[in-house]
Amino acid sequence: MKRIKYAFIGSRKAHTVRAEKALGHRLPQKAVVHHPDEDSLNPNARLVICQDNAHHLLLHVRARVLRAGGNPNTDAMCGGCQMPKPITDFAPSATRSTGRSHLCHACDALKAAKRRRTQAMKINAQRRARWIKRRDEANAARRADRAARPEWYRQESRRQFANDRENITARNQAWLAEHKDVINARRREKRLQLALDQVEIWEKGIDVLAAELEAPN
Ligand SMILES: [Zn+2]
Ligand SMILES: [Zn+2]
Repeated sequence: MKRIKYAFIGSRKAHTVRAEKALGHRLPQKAVVHHPDEDSLNPNARLVICQDNAHHLLLHVRARVLRAGGNPNTDAMCGGCQMPKPITDFAPSATRSTGRSHLCHACDALKAAKRRRTQAMKINAQRRARWIKRRDEANAARRADRAARPEWYRQESRRQFANDRENITARNQAWLAEHKDVINARRREKRLQLALDQVEIWEKGIDVLAAELEAPN
C-alpha cells in the first residue's frame, strides 16, 4: 500500500482537527475522514466524515466509477480492463466481499482462455518430455543390441556397406560418362560468358581512363 503524506496541526492530522471542530466533539472510534479531492495535503479540502472504513472505501469505489465516466449506482470497475461496466456484467461470487467477480464477463473469459492455453502448453511439454525419454531409451537399447552382436556379424555388415558404396559410386560414374558432352558444353558456355563479362568490364575501364586523361586539369 502506498504511504500517504498528511498535513499536520501540531501532532494531529489537520483534517482530523478540522472535522472535530466542525462536529463539535471528538471523532467516534471507527470514524474515518475522507477527502473527496483526494489531496491529503490540501489544508482547505472539503471533508466527509464516514462512520467506518467500509463506508469510506465505498466512497472511493464510487468516485473511481464516476471519474472513469460510469454511473456509480449501476456500474462497477473491472479489475481487468479497468473500465466501468454494468454490475450485471460481473459473475456472482460467494467468496468476495462485493458478492461478485472483480472481472467483467469479457475479462473473465479472457483469463479462462489464458489459463487453458497455459495448461495446454504444460501438457504438451510433459508429452514431449515423455517422447524424448522413450526415444532415448530406444536408442540406448539399439546401441546395446549392436554392441552385443558377434564379430562375424559386424564384419559382414561392414562388407555389405562397402559393397553398396562401390555400387553407388559406379552408378554415379556411369551417369557422368553418359552425360559428359552436355555437362562440358554447359561448362564451356559458362566460362565463355564469364570471359565476355570480363572483357566488357575491362573496356569500360579503358573508357574511364581515356576520359580522365582527356579531361582538362
Ligand atoms: Zn478517502
Ligand atoms: Zn473487464
